[in-house]
Amino acid sequence: MDQLLNQAAQWMREANKIIALTGAGVSTESGIPDFRSANGLWAKYNPAEYATLGAFRANPVKVWGMLSEMEEVLRTEPNVGHRAMADMEAEGLLHGIITQNIDGLHQEAGSKEVVEFHGSSRTFSCLQCGTSYPREKVISMERPPLCTKQTPMGGGACDTILKPDFVFFDEMIPMSAIAGAAKMTEKADLILVAGTSCEVYPASEIPQQVRAQGGRIIEINLEPVPELRADISLVGKFSKMVTTLHSTIQNARS
Ligand code: NAD
Repeated sequence: MDQLLNQAAQWMREANKIIALTGAGVSTESGIPDFRSANGLWAKYNPAEYATLGAFRANPVKVWGMLSEMEEVLRTEPNVGHRAMADMEAEGLLHGIITQNIDGLHQEAGSKEVVEFHGSSRTFSCLQCGTSYPREKVISMERPPLCTKQTPMGGGACDTILKPDFVFFDEMIPMSAIAGAAKMTEKADLILVAGTSCEVYPASEIPQQVRAQGGRIIEINLEPVPELRADISLVGKFSKMVTTLHSTIQNARS
C-alpha cells in the first residue's frame, strides 16, 4: 500500500489540474449510510415508490415519511476526510469537487469549489410557486412542511407541500450542475474518485472523460470498482486514505 500511496502522491504533485468525484462512501464515516448497504435507506424504502417526482406528486405525505427519517441522518458533521479535501483545495492542490452527495458536508468542511451533481438537501422548493426555503427554516416547520408564501389578492398561503432540492430518480440533472461539472472537468489531468460505486449515470462518465483527455484516475474505496479501471486503487476507508495521501504529498514537498 505504501508504494501505491507514494505513486499516487507523486502523480498528484505532477498534475496540472486535479478534480475529485465523490459519492456516498465519503460520508459513511460521518454516520450517513450509503444507499446500497444493509442499513441504507433503500433496504427499507423502495426507491420507485418513494424517490421519484411522480411518487412525490401523487402522495407527498407518504414521501415525507421517508424524508423525515432522512433528515435525522443528515444532521451530521464532516469527517477528517472531508476536511483533508478542503485543505487540499486551500493549498491549491485540488481544483474542485463534483459530488453526488446531497448532504452538504464538503462545503461544511470548507470546500469552496463544489458541484452538487444530484442537488442538495440544504434547500427546499415549492413546486407550485417556486419559493425557496433553507433547511434551517424547514426544520422548524410542521410535517409535511407547507409553502407559506401569500398568494396575490389575499388568497391566503400557497400551502403546497415543499420538496427538497435533491434530484429524485426520475428527474433530470440540473443544467447548472451539468455545466458546472463540464467546466470543472475541462483540462483536468487527474481525478480522485472516492466513495462511489460509479453506478449512477451520468456522473459515472466523468472519470472516463478525464481518461479520454489523457488524465489519470486514482480511486479510494473499500473495494475497487472494476468498471472504473482506475490507474491506482487505494483500498481502505476514505478518511484514513485521503489523510494519508495528503500527508504523503506534504512530506514530499517539505
Ligand atoms: P453507493 O452507495 O452506490 O456506493 C458507495 C460506495 O462507497 C461503495 O462503492 C462503497 O464500497 C464505498 N464506501 C462505503 N463506505 C466507504 C468508506 N468508509 N470509505 C471508502 N469507500 C466507502 O453511492 P454512490 O456511488 O454515491 O451512488 C448512490 C447515490 O445515492 C448517489 O446519487 C448519491 O447522491 C446518493 N446518496 C447520497 C448520500 C449522501 O449525500 N451522503 C448518501 C446515500 C446515497
